[in-house]
Amino acid sequence: MTTANLTRAEARSRTAALTVDTYDVTLDVTGAEEPGNAWFDTTTTITFTSSAPTTFLDFLDGQVQRVVVNGADLPSAAYDGARVALGELSTEAINTVTVVGRGRYSTSGQGLHRFTDPADGNTYLYTQYEPSDSRRVYAQFDQPDLKAHHTFHIAAPEGWLVWSNQPEVATGPGPVEGTSWHHFAPTPPLSTYLSAVMAGPYHRVSDQWTSEDGSLTVDLGLACRPDRAKHLDAEVLFDLTKRGLEFFNREFGYPYPWGKYDQIFVPEYNLGAMENPGCVTFTEQYLFREAATRSQYAGRCNTLLHEMSHMWFGDLVTPRWWDDLWLKESFAEFMGTHASIAIDAFAEAWVGFAGRRKAWAYSQDQLPTTHPIVADIPDVEAARQNFDGITYAKGASVLKQLVHYVGLQPFFAGARSYFAAHAYGSTSLADLLVELERSSGRDLGPWTKAWLETAGPDELAARVTTADDGTMAELRIEQTSLDAISGQRVHRPHVIAVGLYDLVESEGGGEPRLVRRGAPIEVELAGEGAVVEAASGQLLPALVLVNDGDWTYAKVRLDERSARAAVDHVGHVDDPLARALLWSQLWSMTRDGDLLVRDYLRAVTTHAAAEDDAATLGSLLSQAQSAIESFEHPDRVPTARREWVSAVRSLLGSDAISDDQRLLLARAFAVAAATVADPEVVDDVRDLLKVPQVVVPALEVGQDLRWSLVSALVATGSETTGVAEEELVRDNSMDGRTRLRQVLASSPEADPRALVDGLLTPGALSNDHVDAVIAGLRTPLREEATDGAVGDLFARATAIWADHSIEIAQRLVRGLFPTARPAETADRGRAWLAGEGAEAPAALRRIVLEQVDFCERRARVQSANA
Ligand SMILES: [Zn+2]
Repeated sequence: MTTANLTRAEARSRTAALTVDTYDVTLDVTGAEEPGNAWFDTTTTITFTSSAPTTFLDFLDGQVQRVVVNGADLPSAAYDGARVALGELSTEAINTVTVVGRGRYSTSGQGLHRFTDPADGNTYLYTQYEPSDSRRVYAQFDQPDLKAHHTFHIAAPEGWLVWSNQPEVATGPGPVEGTSWHHFAPTPPLSTYLSAVMAGPYHRVSDQWTSEDGSLTVDLGLACRPDRAKHLDAEVLFDLTKRGLEFFNREFGYPYPWGKYDQIFVPEYNLGAMENPGCVTFTEQYLFREAATRSQYAGRCNTLLHEMSHMWFGDLVTPRWWDDLWLKESFAEFMGTHASIAIDAFAEAWVGFAGRRKAWAYSQDQLPTTHPIVADIPDVEAARQNFDGITYAKGASVLKQLVHYVGLQPFFAGARSYFAAHAYGSTSLADLLVELERSSGRDLGPWTKAWLETAGPDELAARVTTADDGTMAELRIEQTSLDAISGQRVHRPHVIAVGLYDLVESEGGGEPRLVRRGAPIEVELAGEGAVVEAASGQLLPALVLVNDGDWTYAKVRLDERSARAAVDHVGHVDDPLARALLWSQLWSMTRDGDLLVRDYLRAVTTHAAAEDDAATLGSLLSQAQSAIESFEHPDRVPTARREWVSAVRSLLGSDAISDDQRLLLARAFAVAAATVADPEVVDDVRDLLKVPQVVVPALEVGQDLRWSLVSALVATGSETTGVAEEELVRDNSMDGRTRLRQVLASSPEADPRALVDGLLTPGALSNDHVDAVIAGLRTPLREEATDGAVGDLFARATAIWADHSIEIAQRLVRGLFPTARPAETADRGRAWLAGEGAEAPAALRRIVLEQVDFCERRARVQSANA
């Protein structure tokens, strides 16, 4: 129904008319443990003033039993499944409205998610609302700028723990025998999407943090399912939490505003984490079931600090509307990385940012659907689609440039006055810029225009002209700056560094190393490119690294000579950031067809053992597999897969690698082994599954790795699905059940049509199980069979969109998109976009546009690899 898609214009007119004071929300989840109970009772009483006699509340996909406006019942026909129409409002006095209704338990991760643990039969609930799913749980004005005090009362089965944004202040006997009431303190003014409730027989540990100056004490809690509790490293997490709170509390100059700080790890979570004030939710995948790499710990720390910075930026001060979603996300992404270093947790944090997060931004920024960082978000459906690489990674990257430009101290000074000026309020970008301009004394207008209001990455490349004596006559940085939306040239200023690298023989006869000649040379680019004056007359270097230090946001293309040097020697560069940049440039050239897949693979297999940054190594191992599956010419794919799996296997056996490298290589081996039905590989996989395993000394084969190995045996038809059923006996947990689904779906014994039918049955599978079945169906050796089972996706797309919640529908359309013949699929996709799909919802069209673009890229790059 169209009224479900709240528009910005409607939100603005409510803002103009309303001031919301309080929500009193009562939820009765006492029946949650009965799988047959689809509904929970929800009653909301709202007090607000209004200058208009009518307005509407948002309440999605529920049932409304009574609506009472200022003491009088309204007819229930005023509810259309998304909105409750309100009339008879007073325009003079405070209005009190009560909505009595029922809400639906969710299995899609949107709204009030219900999960029943196969390990112990227990039920766990949590809410996830951003951007617009709190209206699935209680009637409300669901827009970020209508903040109000929220008071929650939750009835739950006896013995359950219940959390919300504020501390629990009272408990008592519940509405029926064996249940309890939990009453919570009223919140400070809060946006509806930030309200939260968790309930269930969770496991909880507590601690406390007191600021170094003694002025503030905050109760801390950590919680997870009991089945996950053995992996809850509470000491480490509390330590990071305390150091983080100390840092932000001091640097932001505003005392932590939400009273207590709980962090709850939940199952089947759609995202990494969510910044519910005082009650942050994380995916329980962050409680590692087995050996994890340093980059996994670094990533978790980054997320923990990201959410914590939101307690101020996002929660205390909130973007008025979703156009400025980027502002809170970029800020948090910057802070997550900056604080990881500032609290002495992970000194290498910007390396992972350069290699991983920026790769995400660059690839998104080259899609036809790219958009300026400051996006036009006309409605909440568009908002949901903007949790993307531009909003997070490009935004943070540009913010990093801004911090470099205005200076770290003025930046924090600006943030401090921003929090002080707008605490518990809502803002737009202009409000932050005013504070930053004041603290830095700079006019940020031109910067904003160039970086926030245009789309697409600049392309930078070095052009070297040699003189007769072999020195450099000129080193020129060429710059192409186009706005991806208008196609017009734009002026994006950069301050970059250029590194000149020489090949230096190692003492003692080892591999030659690429060594930077002195300090990087700083160059300002003003839209036209520039000559690097300091380089003229110098000896020709082996490699020129443009954007050394990663100060700017731009796609860099290595010149031919530098690309050769990088392929041959990238493992022998000392600076891990320079290596990450070189790897990312080689990958970008591979995706463009400017570097052959086989050359990229040669670089990876030659230098993987020398890459000791786990984030970088993890990226390049998975990119190598993607290079084969997506970009290698189809005729060469079987050979490339065989060569790759054997190269990874032999690296895995090396003595000279670290534990992290061994683990990453073992994971890459399991993935690669699923693409090759070769007896030697199969034997290797079987050996690794033996207990005890002796073929790779020092490798601990944990349960998740075991599942990947089992998956390889089943996907290649080397074992029946019986081996997976046996594995479930070993791992009869929530994760085990999910992995089993994935393995069964990948088997040649499985009927892909039945699996696709199961996926397309609304509500049949939870979010995690949808992902698992898609992952199984999308195993490389099932490509043709799965495409065949899906049939004409374009004919089905609109129905899929209508039948499923948006979270599930997105996964289905992406996951079932044909993969086998990209050129043909691109043609059909374009025809759909122009014809039948012309009037399809914008969010669906966006996915098809992006997938068609990827198909075109694949077709182009595959021919370049012929
Ligand atoms: Zn965030």
